[in-house]
Amino acid sequence: MRLLRVFTILLIVSFISYGCASLPGGKEPSDADINAEAAKAYADVKSKARFSSNAEWNGMVQRVARRIEVASGEPFQWEAVLIESPEVNAWCMPGGKIAVYTGIMPVLKTEGALAAVLGHEVAHATKRHGKQRYARAIKDAYLGAGIGIAGVVASQFLCKDPKCKLFAGLGAAAAGLAVTFFSLKYSRGDETEADQVGQQYMAKAGYDPSEASRLWERMASAGGSKPPELLSTHPSDSTRRANLDGWLPGAMALYNAAPQKYGTGAPVR
Ligand SMILES: [Zn+2]
Repeated sequence: MRLLRVFTILLIVSFISYGCASLPGGKEPSDADINAEAAKAYADVKSKARFSSNAEWNGMVQRVARRIEVASGEPFQWEAVLIESPEVNAWCMPGGKIAVYTGIMPVLKTEGALAAVLGHEVAHATKRHGKQRYARAIKDAYLGAGIGIAGVVASQFLCKDPKCKLFAGLGAAAAGLAVTFFSLKYSRGDETEADQVGQQYMAKAGYDPSEASRLWERMASAGGSKPPELLSTHPSDSTRRANLDGWLPGAMALYNAAPQKYGTGAPVR
């Protein structure tokens, strides 16, 4: 009987949290909630990571990240780390928490290509793609149920009144962000926007924006039969490079107006 009761409560709270998350206006987690959860997830990643001791690469990651951050104009609590790993990958969590994996460095070949990658990843964060992606995910009934189960555990143990239970459910939804950040893919529309905005960021940061489409070519040929990790979530195709070439005149105008110009920057050695 007790099991049946628990199951019933699980089901009800699942519906409550799913319903709340689906309501229009003000019910999705705030930037502050999402950034706080992302910061926790980032701390977790860092606690398990081995940082690169390559001084030259670390210096490059820090200066490129800083320039892209400034170019984005976003007042995040920025942070960037270089993680020792063969993974060909880089990402920026909501709120400006950046990681670059050493596996991507030889593929980049130039500092400008790193600027293109970080421009793209930072654009996902500044355009709140994680949040939108999260909102989409919430509308998935299975995830809604999963969040509800997490919510009910919290609410049943911590709450006495229905309002508290509701907020506990929403809190669990925010906590789910860290998981969905890694498990879900950005949409094709998000990728296109991140490509465009990322190209603008790199140009404003003083890097030759024509390096962006050359970077994706190198990425595509880097993995041999198995495509690099970054490409499995960031599909590369002719449309993508055609887009980048199409936006180039606008990006070049930003580059020409940049206070400092670095071209393609230093080579990655
Ligand atoms: Zn992307």
